[in-house]
Amino acid sequence: MSLFSNFKDLLGQINKLDGSIYMQGKDFADVYAKNIALEEEIAARTKELEQANQTILTLNSVWDMMNSSQPLSSMLDKIVSILHEDMNYNYAVIMKLEKEGTADAYLNIKAASVSKQINKIYSMINESYETYKLPYLENSIIAKSINERKIYSTPDIFGVLNMFFPSIDKIKLKEIISLMSSKSCVIVPLHKGKDNFGCVIVSSDRNGVGDTESNFLSLFANQIELAITVAGLFEEVKKQAITDPLTGLYNRRYFEENIIKEAERSLRLKQPFSLISMDLDFLKKINDTYGHQFGDLAIKTISNVLKKEARSIDIPARIGGEEFNLLLPGVDSNGAMIAAERIRKSIENQILDTIGGITASIGVATFLEHSDRIDELTELADQAMYKAKMNGRNQVQLAQQMSDINWQKLAIETFMDILAKKRIPVKENIANNLYDKLKNIKTDEKDTNELLYSVVDIISQTYNQMYKTGTTKSKILLGNMIAKRLDLPKEETDKLKLAILLYDIGNIMIPEEIFNKKGPLTEEERNTIRQHPLIAAREILKPISNIQDIIPIIESHHENWDGLGYPGVKSGIDIPITSQIVLLVDSFYAMTQDRPYRHAYSKEEVIKILKEEAGKRWNEKLVDDFIDLIKKETL
Ligand code: GH3
Ligand code: MG
Repeated sequence: MSLFSNFKDLLGQINKLDGSIYMQGKDFADVYAKNIALEEEIAARTKELEQANQTILTLNSVWDMMNSSQPLSSMLDKIVSILHEDMNYNYAVIMKLEKEGTADAYLNIKAASVSKQINKIYSMINESYETYKLPYLENSIIAKSINERKIYSTPDIFGVLNMFFPSIDKIKLKEIISLMSSKSCVIVPLHKGKDNFGCVIVSSDRNGVGDTESNFLSLFANQIELAITVAGLFEEVKKQAITDPLTGLYNRRYFEENIIKEAERSLRLKQPFSLISMDLDFLKKINDTYGHQFGDLAIKTISNVLKKEARSIDIPARIGGEEFNLLLPGVDSNGAMIAAERIRKSIENQILDTIGGITASIGVATFLEHSDRIDELTELADQAMYKAKMNGRNQVQLAQQMSDINWQKLAIETFMDILAKKRIPVKENIANNLYDKLKNIKTDEKDTNELLYSVVDIISQTYNQMYKTGTTKSKILLGNMIAKRLDLPKEETDKLKLAILLYDIGNIMIPEEIFNKKGPLTEEERNTIRQHPLIAAREILKPISNIQDIIPIIESHHENWDGLGYPGVKSGIDIPITSQIVLLVDSFYAMTQDRPYRHAYSKEEVIKILKEEAGKRWNEKLVDDFIDLIKKETL
């Protein structure tokens, strides 16, 4: 072979090789490109997976939150912080639509993500998001999103911000936008069942939203909607719970619902019920000395005593931290005082770990006896409990009638005035002594009644040798019973009580020899005894401004039903009912007491006289009621 042909052959081989190398290089490039594409694909898929994973984690954390029975507001706070921190949105806000369908409809920010930038923005615009209201404009992008139930995205951050803060100047707005570095804003509608709830707004540094993000946001919105519903349900359930977790006693809500029912029942059946109000003594000291857990132990101990002592129809409740109430259906104040004392003793007898012993102060008030209004009753039970505290704790106190407080105050003022201004001739030392007693009594003192009765007793005894101590008290109790039987309003009953205390005060002006005369009276003397006290009472009481409406009652308290009484200017129903009652009460006690000229009548004799004189001296109907009463009562 020639060199040339060898060379040609070699060249041919080289070319072939070269060709093959070229071909292989081409293949390699292809493979390489494919590899890169594959790698990209894998990276994209991994990212998607990561995103999906993140989505699942996020949705899961919202789900966990829903099961933790948190209030709605803290759930919404967490949701926006998840959007901001975990899902990398620059800003997230949840808005609730209020007053929908009215011209005043607006969006209220329920939760907003927090960051330094956001805080700066709020301080620049000088707004607090809690109070911020965004008018709900029908053709705005937000309204469109909510009404169409569709996610909307917009690159017009400026437009959205301008809508939120129309009064902020444009340059400042642009400054704010540059701080946010957001490129788009997404509005996701929120619904609660059929109703519109509001929306979530997020801003991000991405341009618009892709399908994946949009899917995620709508899934997330579903979770938020569920969270809203669940939180609402939890709140409802919590509201409906009737027991207090620490003690297992009924809670305040349950107690309040039941006292209303009990009051209705009580008014309908005219049957009382009682309220025992109780407060642990020195709990603060127990907490401070032994620690909170021992304070709790004291509370639990009291609760157990209450549970043990209560009948099945009673309602023992924990009203506040260390305040307890016990409702006793059908029980009057006597029964309630016995129950309260038993509870007090039982508490005192408990032996507690480390603390040793505890005590409680207790107030008792009875519906229909002390008041026929729930608010007054609880107030009175509280006042009684407070009185137990003031008197040295570890004791039971009975409430004072609400109406007592006013009439007693007025009575105290009146007698103080009479004594201080020497309106009646009483020895100076007696007057001073009574005045001091009245002056020093506290209005909420239980002995106020007793003191008032004794003042009247003592004054009466200064001119009437036959006057028996305790008569005033009996007269007031009897007057009160008649008033109750007649369903007299409280104000009238109060006036009646004052009139009973005061109607005889003018007797003090009658010359002693006439008043205490043993033999029969002359016509003139009888006239003095009849007329003078009325005139005197009017004269004594006239200067005391607060009791002017008592004077007419006293003036008519000797008028007879047939008009033949004195002063003889009124008859029948023209005589105030309170005056009629005073006359009856007065006659009853006059008849049942010894007089210088006769002995006391027996109850039977009194009833006989009452019947004979009914329709003449007294109102017939009133006499019937009265006889009914005195037959039942041991007077
Ligand atoms: P007083 O005899 O006048 O009632 O004295 P007190 O210390 O019991 O009353 P005060 O009202 O001064 O304090 C009540 C304290 O009870 C204050 C509060 O911290 C505590 N307390 C309220 N609820 C609870 C509770 O559930 N557990 C515990 N351990 N303490 C409670
Ligand atoms: Mg206390």
